[in-house]
Amino acid sequence: MTATSPTRVGFIGLGNMGAGMSRNLQKAGFALVVHDIRRESAAELIAGGAVWAETPAETAAQSDVVITMLPTPRHVDTVVNSKTGILAGIADGGTWVDMSTSVPEVAQRVRVEQAARGLHILDAPVSGMAVGAANGMLQIFVGGETDDVERLRPVFEAMGDPDRILHVGPAGSGYAVKLMINQLWFSHLVATAEVLSIGVKAGVDLGVLRNSLIASPANSNFVQHDVLSILTEGDYDEGFAIALACKDLGLSIDLARSVGVPAELSSLVEQIYRRARAQYGDHAGEMTPVKLYEDLIGVDLRLEKVLT
Ligand code: NAD
Repeated sequence: MTATSPTRVGFIGLGNMGAGMSRNLQKAGFALVVHDIRRESAAELIAGGAVWAETPAETAAQSDVVITMLPTPRHVDTVVNSKTGILAGIADGGTWVDMSTSVPEVAQRVRVEQAARGLHILDAPVSGMAVGAANGMLQIFVGGETDDVERLRPVFEAMGDPDRILHVGPAGSGYAVKLMINQLWFSHLVATAEVLSIGVKAGVDLGVLRNSLIASPANSNFVQHDVLSILTEGDYDEGFAIALACKDLGLSIDLARSVGVPAELSSLVEQIYRRARAQYGDHAGEMTPVKLYEDLIGVDLRLEKVLT
């Protein structure tokens, strides 16, 4: 293992999040090796000097650290363990950082099965939506060894807000923190949709209702900030597909099951999300459950202007 910070970064998964993250690594001066099953997603990066790799194995072989930003644990498993996967190319003592919202099982299996190779494996999932990925202001929750986290800090700082790059514990902790954040945020979203719908049907003006909530102990970041894109523009955030939101909710309930904690509320929120996905399709935005309520009451929750 090199004790110095990596300069050649391999990046696999150039989608809504990975596109912005890899662009910011390039801007920060890291030499990039990139791969995706959609080669066209790399065009801009290649024009900026990135090297294209045909497989995850080739990506890993040419990099000091390889990063994955993939939809689900199944995709991570394929990219790591297939015949042309990361493990087929990474040097002994090499570093793999999974920034996907996922679960520890894939990495844990690698640690056990490849123990002799001295690999450094970290989980570092993110919050901040596609916009945070594009402007390099992601929040990053890192699980892993302290030395690895410090060595990789310049890489994380190229993608995230330096004040919100948190080392949250040993390997696996990053995944758990991220899943709990999403679980709570999705719960806030469903609760807010329900409350706004009931209040509006009861005859209260939407702006007055929201301002009253903001001024009350029931205020939340979702009521104050995140719901505004719907209330002002009818934007349900297609930058994060509801299919992936449902994946996160499922993983979070699996986690609850595996640690033996009941997840009654989370399960209900998951069902409401699945209903919205069935109704509006896999690519609908993560905030589409609000639309479920709007359609139920026959009112679009929209503000003419934001009252202060
Ligand atoms: P996305 O579907 O837009 O991008 C995933 C990328 O992975 C795509 O470009 C796809 O072609 C590529 N890919 C899939 N299988 C592959 C394979 N076998 N080999 C190589 N490339 C492959 O997803 P996203 O929105 O960028 O999300 C990525 C991860 O980040 C997910 O785990 C998601 O839950 C998480 N996340 C997303 C957001 C968001 O707002 N979009 C926010 C925080 C976290």
